Amino acid sequence: MSRPYIARIDGEKLHRRTFDVLVLGGGIAGLTAAISAARRWRVGLLTKAGFDDTATFLAQGGIAAALGESDSPDLHFEDTVKAGAGLCDEKAVRVLVDEGPDRVRELMEVCPHFDRVDGEIVLGREGAHSVARVVHAGGDATGSEVSSALAEAARLGSRVQLYEDEFVIDLLTLDGRCVGALSMSLDDGQLTLNTAMVTVLATGGAGQVYGRTTNPTVATGDGIAMAYRAGAAIRDLEFVQFHPTGLAVEGQETVLLITEALRGEGAYLRNEAGERFMVGKDPRAELAARDVVVRAMVAEMRREKSDHVYLDARHLDAEMLAQRFPTVSAGLAQHGLHLATDLIPVAPVCHYFIGGVMTDVWGRSTVPGLYASGECSSTGVHGANRLASNSLLEGLVFSDRVVRDLDRYIGSLGEDVRRLRFALPESAPAAQDGADAAAARRALTATMLQWAGVVRDGNGLKVAIRELRRLNSELAFGRMGVAEYETLNLLTLGTQIAKSALLREESRGVHLREDFPTRDDERWRRHITLRLPPAQREGPA
Ligand SMILES: Cc1cc2nc3c(=O)[nH]c(=O)nc-3n(C[C@H](O)[C@H](O)[C@H](O)COP(=O)(O)OP(=O)(O)OC[C@H]3O[C@@H](n4cnc5c(N)ncnc54)[C@H](O)[C@@H]3O)c2cc1C
Repeated sequence: MSRPYIARIDGEKLHRRTFDVLVLGGGIAGLTAAISAARRWRVGLLTKAGFDDTATFLAQGGIAAALGESDSPDLHFEDTVKAGAGLCDEKAVRVLVDEGPDRVRELMEVCPHFDRVDGEIVLGREGAHSVARVVHAGGDATGSEVSSALAEAARLGSRVQLYEDEFVIDLLTLDGRCVGALSMSLDDGQLTLNTAMVTVLATGGAGQVYGRTTNPTVATGDGIAMAYRAGAAIRDLEFVQFHPTGLAVEGQETVLLITEALRGEGAYLRNEAGERFMVGKDPRAELAARDVVVRAMVAEMRREKSDHVYLDARHLDAEMLAQRFPTVSAGLAQHGLHLATDLIPVAPVCHYFIGGVMTDVWGRSTVPGLYASGECSSTGVHGANRLASNSLLEGLVFSDRVVRDLDRYIGSLGEDVRRLRFALPESAPAAQDGADAAAARRALTATMLQWAGVVRDGNGLKVAIRELRRLNSELAFGRMGVAEYETLNLLTLGTQIAKSALLREESRGVHLREDFPTRDDERWRRHITLRLPPAQREGPA
């Protein structure tokens, strides 16, 4: 039986590398798993860019964990499940909130720059958290502090073999089991078969599906698409979180995120008329859950025929703003804007992928030998709406669990697995000239933004699916490079998002349907799971 690969190999010689554990991705999920697994196993980590080019690096607000005296895992559980709008996997949430505090304390040993006052850790308040529970570092530079510390620990203090600028094209499967991945060096185009007993997918999200996003350019959903091709179940793709406060000005490659922590410190949202439109819409006003704020913003923008509303921090202490939000302040200054003196134009922007590769509470996907952690996974902790600052925590907690499960999985394999020989199926010869990947990608992102964006309806979603099918049928690439592979992956993701969004005939969490504006628990308190048809999967179904 042959399964789909997008890798095209035109007779060139393949390099080979062999590991016990292969980790794909160098954000919080990948680095945490690799460093921990390398204490026991031979680990290789591949990433298509540097360690400072990840969503992790960009994270601002911080990491949520029940560390404060007035807090408890039970409270954190309640807040997470409430935000998740009826779709959280409560077993997974229990794991997240119970194990979170210890994982964060361990991270603090690796990353010493978490903010403290008089030796006490400072806890920030964010939307839909009932207490202050978000630890941060360098003010709003949590992501860069954490990634730099983890990358240094991997480089200097561990035996992980690191390969940056190595683009992973496809997962390798043998009799339905994942046995590694095919990668391409971005320096010289060399293809390498990386075989391993276990592969940990930690490739992050897919914000680039919408073009306008807070996500880094690497966020093209490669991991989710390759897992799907390898036969893994993917889940909840319709739940794409749009962050309420992306900077709404022209000329940004990656949209500057204005962290929720600013509203936590007391900043307001105002419409063109200067009114605080969240007051009266939700008892928590500007600190309501993200989906509630986004809905209200979209309604205001439509009513006022505007493409933004405003964030107002002018009444807050200027010194505090500069100290607590250096990243946001520097980003705004590039556009001539200042928190202490200006109204900041903001609009919802694609921010986070709740869906991904379906896993159990040990990070196991439905394909043996393939684990997933971080934003590329769907552990079920976020339900239909992620609670702010729970995603870095998810990467920490579930990567630790993946490593704890390795003994069991590797122990269950026979000796012959170490002598694995793997050959990729032959691919058809490439045409000389092919479609223009950049043009196809522009068409894809425009379609997704227009027809499958923050507010959806059935007719628009049908247009999106039709357009994406047409694009797909016209795409015959000549030479295959990163741009071509990424475009194919984005197309897979876009199509599955639109299909799932069309199926879900209700509004729930971050999924907003104009034609089905209410939540329908009777029909839809369930997940949408997608998997290749059995005839296209390899090995036992
Ligand atoms: C601007 C911004 C602010 C945020 N703020 C917060 C916050 O305050 N708190 C919070 O909890 N969450 C926050 N988030 C979300 C959070 O940062 C991410 O969900 C989390 O960092 C994801 O970590 P990850 O390890 O799964 O993926 P990432 O950190 O995105 O890393 C993905 C890795 O996979 C690699 N990769 C991808 N495809 C391939 C391929 N084909 N081949 C090889 N390598 C590949 C990439 O190069 C990268 O190394 C924020 C996100 C953004 C964008």
